[in-house]
Amino acid sequence: MSRYTGPACRLCRREGTKLFLKGERCLTDKCPVTRRGTAPGQHGASQVRKQREYYMQLREKQKAKRYYGVQENQFRKYYDMAEKKEGQTGENLLCLLERRFDNVVYRMGLAESRKEARQLVLHAHFTLNGKKADIPSIIVKKGDVIALKGKSKDSAKIKSLLELMESKTFPQWLDVDTTNAKATVTSLPTREDIDFPFQEHLIVELYSK
Ligand code: SF4
Repeated sequence: MSRYTGPACRLCRREGTKLFLKGERCLTDKCPVTRRGTAPGQHGASQVRKQREYYMQLREKQKAKRYYGVQENQFRKYYDMAEKKEGQTGENLLCLLERRFDNVVYRMGLAESRKEARQLVLHAHFTLNGKKADIPSIIVKKGDVIALKGKSKDSAKIKSLLELMESKTFPQWLDVDTTNAKATVTSLPTREDIDFPFQEHLIVELYSK
């Protein structure tokens, strides 16, 4: 399945909620969800109102996929991994997504969006435990150290991201060293660390059919 390349805001309007896909712009009144709050297309308002069970479950899955920028086959793999772990499958799923390498780069404040974080990872700007790491889907573990490569700090774009990093707040499961642009995973994220109101039980219901 190919990666969606259309306007990011359309995905939020489709889900009827802010998915924070465009960095700072998402926090302004330029955000179309803030302004309109309806799904795209002429029948958008009526689509948002549909409350059928399957529709709600499907939308919740799409929301999580889009929030983390993950495609269907990969999302399903995370679900299968989540199901095998102890505890609640829905929570396990979200915690696995949160541990993706590109999400960690975003959470450590070195990208304005997860999409940008993915690009930076693909362009090999980071190391994981001192070794080159250019795969956004890597799942980090407790004790892992993620760092910006020294050479990458010369790029104008990254310099501006480093300046922004100083003003960011970081999740408690990451120990972020802004001076050296590096982060250590001090514990694994829990459901409480994920600040988006997912209804993950709907995703579990969908895959359990
Ligand atoms: Fe666009 Fe961000 Fe608003 Fe989503 S939250 S609609 S990406 S501005």
